[in-house]
Amino acid sequence: MSKARLIDGKEIAAKLRKTVAAQTLTLRNSYGLVPGLAAVLVGEDPASQIYIRNKETHAREMGMNNFSRKLSKNTSEAELLKIVSKLNANPEVNGILVQQPLPTFIDAFTVIENVDPAKDVDGFHSFNLGALLRGSGGLVPCTPKGCMMLLETTLSDLNGANAVVLGRSNIVGKPLAQLLLAANTTVTITHSHTRDLPEICRNADILISAIGQPELIKGHWIKPGAIVLDVGINRKKTKDGKQILVGDVDFDEAIEIASAITPVPGGVGPMTIACLLENTLIACCQQNGVPVPEI
Ligand code: NDP
Repeated sequence: MSKARLIDGKEIAAKLRKTVAAQTLTLRNSYGLVPGLAAVLVGEDPASQIYIRNKETHAREMGMNNFSRKLSKNTSEAELLKIVSKLNANPEVNGILVQQPLPTFIDAFTVIENVDPAKDVDGFHSFNLGALLRGSGGLVPCTPKGCMMLLETTLSDLNGANAVVLGRSNIVGKPLAQLLLAANTTVTITHSHTRDLPEICRNADILISAIGQPELIKGHWIKPGAIVLDVGINRKKTKDGKQILVGDVDFDEAIEIASAITPVPGGVGPMTIACLLENTLIACCQQNGVPVPEI
């Protein structure tokens, strides 16, 4: 059997960013509107600093305005909520995201629920999650949205396929399961209490893992010819002491069995930021009563 095809998230994300940049320019030229994104960081978590910087850089490249805020690690919940409220009230800010994890003394749920749902470009607010459940309207969480785009470029017809999602977080697993359901796949969602995970995985035409367990999913867990998306991002030390990033899937084994697979890094990750930019563009159009462009 031949090796699996690589699903190139970098390339697909670059195409999406190009389209978003073109639509942003059209928005500026036709309506004088410039989408504005505010990414809020509390503290100095090194990974979060990198994520925020990437989001700012890409937003600028799209021609969007950047309203990001970097707050001290001692910022209280009340201070953060005040800043969120100011961003909610600013008509130039169309998208707001509060980078997680937050310091332990701030309740992430309270913060998310205080972001105006129309500006919640992460798609984490209850209103947007409810819209997802209903199957229409709302801003869709970025990583699950990116996964669906990768699937749609890989498989022409998802109808009736068996999809297995590993992980049930509010930001990846649960919303992804809803999107897969809306695409007429038959969805199984698994978690840390699931019995006989390998057997369930072997039934998957589409296997998507978001559990944060380095290389847990072995080749013999995968149905021959399956499509595998690996959302997991895990740090691993190599034999020579180097730090590398690996996914939840044992890539070297899986590539021999699957028909298509995302690498880590360079698979799902780049899609998350590209979808955030797309959501910011959509939010700007919706807030200004302008038709949302076809992307
Ligand atoms: P969470 O920690 O919130 O959720 C992990 C989920 O995996 C839980 O539902 C948990 O089950 C389940 N789980 C953990 N261990 C096992 C196991 N051994 N077997 C089966 N299920 C298990 O993680 P996130 O959803 O936030 O993120 C998941 C991974 O995806 C992480 O590696 C993260 O870094 C990555 N990520 C990547 C993104 C990207 O852009 N590529 C974006 C977001 C996340 P239970 O509910 O029972 O505890």
